[in-house]
Amino acid sequence: MKKEYEDGLKEVACAVWEHPEPGFAEFESSRIQVEFLKKHGFEVVENVANTKTGYCASFGHGKPVIALLGEFDALYGLGQEADVAEYKPNDCEMGHGCGHHLLGTGCIGAGLLIKDYLEKTGIEGTIRVYGCPAEESGSGKVYMARDGVFDDVDIALAWHPGLVHQVAAGSSQSCYHLIFKFHGRAAHAAGAPENGRSALDAVELTDIGANYLREHMESTDRVHYAITNSGGVSPNVVQAEAEVKYFVRSTTNPKCKALYDRVVNIAKGAALMTETTVDVEFVEALSNTIPNYVLEDVLEESFLEIGVPEYTKEELDYAQKFKNSYETKYTLDMIDETVTDKKELLENMKTSPICNYFVKNNHSEYCYMGSTDVGDVSWVVPTSTINTACYSYGAGAHSWQWVAQGKSSIAMKGMYTASEVLAKAAEKLYENPELVEKAKKEFDERMDGQKYECPIPPEVEPHI
Ligand SMILES: [Zn+2]
Ligand SMILES: [Zn+2]
Repeated sequence: MKKEYEDGLKEVACAVWEHPEPGFAEFESSRIQVEFLKKHGFEVVENVANTKTGYCASFGHGKPVIALLGEFDALYGLGQEADVAEYKPNDCEMGHGCGHHLLGTGCIGAGLLIKDYLEKTGIEGTIRVYGCPAEESGSGKVYMARDGVFDDVDIALAWHPGLVHQVAAGSSQSCYHLIFKFHGRAAHAAGAPENGRSALDAVELTDIGANYLREHMESTDRVHYAITNSGGVSPNVVQAEAEVKYFVRSTTNPKCKALYDRVVNIAKGAALMTETTVDVEFVEALSNTIPNYVLEDVLEESFLEIGVPEYTKEELDYAQKFKNSYETKYTLDMIDETVTDKKELLENMKTSPICNYFVKNNHSEYCYMGSTDVGDVSWVVPTSTINTACYSYGAGAHSWQWVAQGKSSIAMKGMYTASEVLAKAAEKLYENPELVEKAKKEFDERMDGQKYECPIPPEVEPHI
């Protein structure tokens, strides 16, 4: 990549790192990126799908339309000094602990390279860089998918900063977030308990019911909860109001919806038992990810052509300090299910401070536990994702170590590599329309007549 691009991208990524913002409130991050894209000749539409901070930057004309899925939101509780290999919070309420300052900027980098390619070759095709808000919490892409933002897109490519260089394989879970708000009646808990109807009892009975449900759900389903209002601190007042927040996850949208209905029935049963009432508040939902082997192959070929970054002695020393800051025993069982040669990766994790080779993954339907809103895009258009190592081995995502390394040269090298690999893959797709058709055919076969039904109901708007 041209030095001029590298410098510009570094500036953007660092500026976003320095202005960590929560989902749907990434105003400064979005502004920085939009300005940069406009300066480089992209046409930008803002406030995409009424998300305020979401944008769509495009260049070129005609088909195929290739989308790059960028993000830029940060995480609460992760303010941390840069480049310090010890926990040292700064006065920031938030921090880029998931590398989304690199993620969005890396997609812009790929956009620049693809724009140059389209200009140079005169080939027909459109590149779109999407700024997708609120990945961590808020499900920005889900609203964008619901609004039809990706309907005329042919292929979507994504990346995420990580610990290894690889093409992501497998799937991720569908997930519903909801809150049960119980309403009862307060009373003196000793003097007139018969007059009280406890909302806290209803919360407890809901949780007990959900815990019994575990025995009768699939082993790949997940249900977890947090009591977000226990009704107060006074045992001698029957709690009139209480609420509990639930995440319900399964391997596909239809299965997840069915499990969600069962959990809602448990809460209704708890309300009946306690003579309270319950409001079910829908918070957000995300779809499972549908893999696409054709695109995985295109990305792998591209990654092998670009290669992984080379690290200087200084960078390796820097990474080693961060690796040392996280005590862990490296074992085979911590390696992802889809990795082709687990022993090779384990050896690399033990002996190198940072991943320094391309980790091959098998094509797989394996569903990783956890969810991403990239899943919703994958229900609309063939989608695939790569990871590049932007951090030392050791601590994983959402850690102070990731925040601290966020502006380092190893983070930037990971980001530039992602830009180059995504751009290379896009070139292959523009040059070989039959690859786009093959990816679409696989998509159609996997959908088998199913249509994307957005898991977020139409009346729910993007919210923090
Ligand atoms: Zn994250
Ligand atoms: Zn993330």
